[in-house]
Amino acid sequence: MKIHEYQGKQILAKYGVAIPRGEMVTTVDDARLAAERLLKEGASGIVVKAQIHAGGRGKGGGVKLAKNADEAKRYAEAILGMMLKTHQTGPDGQKVQRLLIEETLPIEKELYLGIVLDRATARPVFMASREGGMEIEEVAAKHPAAILKEYIDPAVGFQAFQARKLAFGLGIKSEMVGQAVKFFTALYRAYDETDASLAEINPFITTTDGRLFALDAKLNFDDNALYRHPDIKELRDISEEDPLEVEASKYNLNYIKLDGNIACMVNGAGLAMATMDIIKYAGGAPANFLDVGGGANADQITHAFQILLADANVKAIFINIFGGILRVDTLANGVIEAARRTNLALPIVLRLEGTNVEQGRKLLQESGLNFIVGQTMKDAAEKVVQAAGSRG
Ligand code: ADP
Ligand code: MG
Repeated sequence: MKIHEYQGKQILAKYGVAIPRGEMVTTVDDARLAAERLLKEGASGIVVKAQIHAGGRGKGGGVKLAKNADEAKRYAEAILGMMLKTHQTGPDGQKVQRLLIEETLPIEKELYLGIVLDRATARPVFMASREGGMEIEEVAAKHPAAILKEYIDPAVGFQAFQARKLAFGLGIKSEMVGQAVKFFTALYRAYDETDASLAEINPFITTTDGRLFALDAKLNFDDNALYRHPDIKELRDISEEDPLEVEASKYNLNYIKLDGNIACMVNGAGLAMATMDIIKYAGGAPANFLDVGGGANADQITHAFQILLADANVKAIFINIFGGILRVDTLANGVIEAARRTNLALPIVLRLEGTNVEQGRKLLQESGLNFIVGQTMKDAAEKVVQAAGSRG
């Protein structure tokens, strides 16, 4: 689960990570009032920051520096309600509904900090780089050596010597190393105790007057651990998520919307990936990734169908199932029921294998509905691409 920058900063502050003073607002008037308050409290300037679940806002025009409350108000007017496009949003951008009004700080250097789980070593890795403020993916691709890494043994936790190594590696002045160690340790505790899957501060800054701050904050959380954090679960902002993905998550379906016109219903993430590949290979474009999971029942299949059909781009449906825990006859029943309930008019291409495949095929044949059956995955992919294409 993702949250907004201002929410991430509030969580970090609880753990002792220094953040700039600021307030979240949803109207232009409140933006102006917040700016006035911050200036009265001694802020030297104001930054107006679009709050969307995507990075790269600065480049996209969603982060603006203002000298006074009037200017802050004008930026708030321009940014609130805009469709903000960044390299992390879709091509249409994301609508800005919240702003963070924050004090500006005298930046000396913009650095990078990030903690993620490294799957290869099965440990959290604390990364730091002098190349802050820019896309870290680009740094990783072009200058991998510019990213310092400390792997953390979860049994003993993040150690002070590791924090010192990172601080020296970043070129933090010796009189500020103690402060940096506290900062990094607090950040690691926040990552660890909230069951975050990512904690990224880009930029992490040193100021000209010798202080350290998280100027940006990105926290993602492990969905499987959210039951332990009801307070964090409440921070979910579903207006930032695709409505169909929200619907799918209600039924434990792993669904991600894509731009193509062939809907896919598949069990297992690996098979779903392979299905999307083979559709591409056959010259088509998948409309979604959908893993109905191993334990799917007829009810879930029906919901999955409704979600696939709610996408107006869909011209054909490819059902690619390997019956294991989910038996093929169960799936067939679900498909038939869903097809009847939804008055399905789109062509459906099936490729079925595995447990109870014969019973499943029989059910489909006797249903009186019009299914196209593929002999192999390749054959089915070609048939579905043709079916989607012939409908324009
Ligand atoms: P994004 O990563 O989405 O572009 P950031 O929060 O990193 O958004 O902001 C982009 C840039 O704006 C930062 O790299 C920094 O230069 C500037 N900035 C952001 N917040 C402040 C602030 N409080 N004071 C001064 N500059 C800021
Ligand atoms: Mg940033």
